[in-house]
Amino acid sequence: MSIPRTRAAAANLGSVPPRLRDGLAVFALDGNRVRIGLADPVVLEGLSSEEAAFVARLEEASACTSADVARYEHVIRRLDLHGLLAHRGTSSPPGTASSGEGTGTGTGTWHATVCVVGADDLAMAIGLCLAQAGVRRIEFEDAKPAAAATPVTMVAGVTRAHRAARAINGWVPHAAHVAGAGSSCRSPDVTVIVASGSPDLALVSDLMAADQPHLPVITDERGVTVGPFVIPGAGPCLTCLGISRTEADADWPLVALQCNGSRPTHASAAVRALTAGVACDSVVRFLDGGGSDARQWRAESRTNGDGPRLTERVVRTHPSCRCSNPLVRGDDLEDQQAILF
Ligand SMILES: [Zn+2]
Repeated sequence: MSIPRTRAAAANLGSVPPRLRDGLAVFALDGNRVRIGLADPVVLEGLSSEEAAFVARLEEASACTSADVARYEHVIRRLDLHGLLAHRGTSSPPGTASSGEGTGTGTGTWHATVCVVGADDLAMAIGLCLAQAGVRRIEFEDAKPAAAATPVTMVAGVTRAHRAARAINGWVPHAAHVAGAGSSCRSPDVTVIVASGSPDLALVSDLMAADQPHLPVITDERGVTVGPFVIPGAGPCLTCLGISRTEADADWPLVALQCNGSRPTHASAAVRALTAGVACDSVVRFLDGGGSDARQWRAESRTNGDGPRLTERVVRTHPSCRCSNPLVRGDDLEDQQAILF
């Protein structure tokens, strides 16, 4: 393993006792050797039994005392040379280290904005997953009034988007927001569309015309379909799917029009959790530099009462769809949808 010299230069054995990086486990080996870490283990050799015991204690965040620092400075410097120590500003302080639950820091990894159209329980699960995965800003777009704790009353002036943003910010402070004026996200990096049956067709046309990447998350009575991740002009689009579905079901355009992003979604808690992970993974792959992704995932409840099942397939650009023709303008695509639907 290469030794990060910059860390050595940054070694600070001053007032704050050192600690291992979050998640590092320590294992005692024979001959007073100590192995630190599981994925990229580092083995320290040539230690005395006291030094080995000291390193083993470091797995507990606050185990290192100032007396230890004085006595084992040479061991601490070895740990630092291997990049095993947490440094201020690069990791969570003791007691607040992320363990996969509880609050996050609100400082996202990706300087990206993801717009989530819809703010029901499924959309909220996806938004929370994105925020916890490190997406800097999640904007919810849903002007429907939020239901209060008692289902027959509504909270005056509070929309579902407000409710979703508030809930997520309780876990990841400052990550979630309500979409801007006009209830519309402004130039997000990705739009996630959560809808029952079929999304708002005008919204899809707008996203295609604006060359905006988007991910459909579509529910029905049995489960949720996620994908494909659409980059306009670079793979299958939602109209491609609509044409294919109409070829198999002549009534589909009338059904899709009656959904049009306005019906309530349905998904069990288990399917919601599975869907949120899959949708989040798809978005994060794009933010990591990925392109369009023609895969489509289906999370479905089993009829025998067992947990949900996840399947994957690849969808294709339909030859009749003009989405891949660079000469086709956005309003032409709208015309195409108008003919189809
Ligand atoms: Zn298409």
